[in-house]
Amino acid sequence: MSDDLFKNIISHSKEYGFIFPSSEIYDGLGAVYDYGQNGVLLVNNIKEYWWKSMVQMHENIVGIDSSIFMHPKVWKASGHVDAFNDPLIDNKDSKKRYRADVLIEEHIAKIEDKIKKEVEKAAKRFGETFDAEMYRSTNPRVMEYQAKIDQINARFKKALEENQLDEIKKIIEDSEIVCPISGSRNWTDVRQFNLMFSTQMGSVAEDSDTIYLRPETAQGIFVNFLNVLNTSRQRIPFGIAQIGKAFRNEIVARQFIFRMREFEQMEMQFFVRPGEEMKWYEYWKETRINWHKKLGIDAAKYKFHDHLKTAHYANAAVDIEFEFPFGFKELEGIHSRTDFDLKQHQELSGKKLQYFDPELNQSYIPYVVETSIGVSRTFLAILSSAYQKEVLENGEERVVLKIHPTLAPNKVAILPLVKKDGLPEKARALFNSLKMDLYTQYDEKDSIGKRYRRQDALGTPFCITIDHQSLEDNTCTIRHRDSMQQERMPIDAVHRLILEKTSWNQLLS
Ligand code: ATP
Repeated sequence: MSDDLFKNIISHSKEYGFIFPSSEIYDGLGAVYDYGQNGVLLVNNIKEYWWKSMVQMHENIVGIDSSIFMHPKVWKASGHVDAFNDPLIDNKDSKKRYRADVLIEEHIAKIEDKIKKEVEKAAKRFGETFDAEMYRSTNPRVMEYQAKIDQINARFKKALEENQLDEIKKIIEDSEIVCPISGSRNWTDVRQFNLMFSTQMGSVAEDSDTIYLRPETAQGIFVNFLNVLNTSRQRIPFGIAQIGKAFRNEIVARQFIFRMREFEQMEMQFFVRPGEEMKWYEYWKETRINWHKKLGIDAAKYKFHDHLKTAHYANAAVDIEFEFPFGFKELEGIHSRTDFDLKQHQELSGKKLQYFDPELNQSYIPYVVETSIGVSRTFLAILSSAYQKEVLENGEERVVLKIHPTLAPNKVAILPLVKKDGLPEKARALFNSLKMDLYTQYDEKDSIGKRYRRQDALGTPFCITIDHQSLEDNTCTIRHRDSMQQERMPIDAVHRLILEKTSWNQLLS
């Protein structure tokens, strides 16, 4: 069912101009995608929602837009040159390459699924009196599964921390993990693979410097910390937000726009007093999950997942996971990055990156809490929960994208009932008066039913139909996407109503 859903979403994305494979006429480029005419509108709205909720809604957050190219030392300081690696492993029979950590995580997820099934079965058997917690802690089979998970997790954590690649391979072998393609356990050794793309800057090869395409936007914020501090009136605690492209040479990239080699991040670094970082970490966990919930997507599709091993720069880290059609996966990361980055940049640049705290009467390197989310993963989360196939009363099927009206690519479509009798002129006049404020579509081709279907498939929340009665009394019908209900209303009231229903207020208040 989920597999079908995922396939349907991929083909719907292409058919309706949301997402195209990059350079498709040349058969595409691995894990690189383009947004089409409707996709780009949704992307812009997602970015605007994030930007407004950070920069516009917080007096103590400002935005910047830093360059993709940065001084090579930035990536030395940040640790990316030495430690931005994924452990990879190849299956000798299928010649397919995998991320070793992902193979282990997926194996654990399968065992978790077995536990879930046992619990569901028992819940059915015992009925209302069933206590799931009690069952989990006493049922021998469930306990055995859980012990297996705990054991793998403990070994895996230690192996990651001590960078023992042979132990990671051993965990894969001991867990009897097979290649999904060949079904064999014929694995190579595990190797580390750096994910940064590099290129050359400068015209003469001898003087050129290797520079990197940034693998995260965060470093552009850290190197501008002093600039913002000195030119704004911000005092700690305050944040710097940025939206921009990032590049990673991902090893395994087979999940549509979930994992791309070129993608956009929306990141915010929040600078705080040392010792207060956990308070702010909790604050941002709460604030960010609420941002997601405002979209009206089923809350059960989100969960927090604490990191087993925190990255080299963090002292606490959690993911907000979303239930994509292929299972729960990371949508956003919230990290307590300590003073790691600023300290490193201070050391390598020789510039003092400190803050004088007048209340404490002392200088220090601030601690940082980061929130980091990918635009395309948000896009996929929204699209996969919005996509619905419905059977109508007359037996026909419709595909509808139930996207939050404020994020919908187009807000309203203006449809003259027929292409004659002065209806197109009347409809065009309304279209022209709306388009300054709202992304509006005008469509007079095909039957009205077909045109409704088309707008449903694009996620347009409102359709306005102009008919013969409109010429007499200046009214129209408004059709609501989700309920398909239609009402008659004065044409003069359309503009205000749609502005109100699609305003940022709906998401930001
Ligand atoms: P994963 O474990 O899935 O590789 P990550 O932990 O490396 O992700 P972060 O470095 O925390 O990811 O990046 C922050 C956010 O950027 C992620 O939560 C995700 O939304 C987004 N992101 C990271 N890598 C990609 C990618 N290759 N394609 C699309 N979005 C990405």
